[in-house]
Amino acid sequence: MDDKPSAKHLERMWKYAEKFAEKSGTYLHPNRKVTEVVIEGLARHIEEVGKPLCPCNFYPDKQAEAKLRRWICACDEMQIYKYCHCLLFVTPEGLPITEYLPEDHEGRQIYGLVKDPHPDKGRALRHRAGEAAKPQP
Ligand code: SF4
Repeated sequence: MDDKPSAKHLERMWKYAEKFAEKSGTYLHPNRKVTEVVIEGLARHIEEVGKPLCPCNFYPDKQAEAKLRRWICACDEMQIYKYCHCLLFVTPEGLPITEYLPEDHEGRQIYGLVKDPHPDKGRALRHRAGEAAKPQP
């Protein structure tokens, strides 16, 4: 699907992203283009499956995945570890927060240790840390 998502869905996702960044103590990427691409992917999924499914994974069955909810933005990984592999919710420098990830997680291997600039915010599902190293798509 190469069509651009509707302005309505794009706007909905921009608003959501801005609000969630504020609430979770993260930032939108300093390069606006990065954010635009992710927002567009999320908005496209609203049109395809009715939910803002994470655009940075491959799903054999998007409808089935949407029902599981684990990769609906903000995904389990964000709510548990405050890690966004799409780079939608990052530090002011544009890096994903990796501080809370298990050490063998690919995010730690790629980016090293990236500290949370606002440990007092976000991680609504932090009690689930350690339950699964990484929720698989
Ligand atoms: S990784 Fe999670 S928080 Fe980041 S864009 Fe995808 S679903 Fe949203």
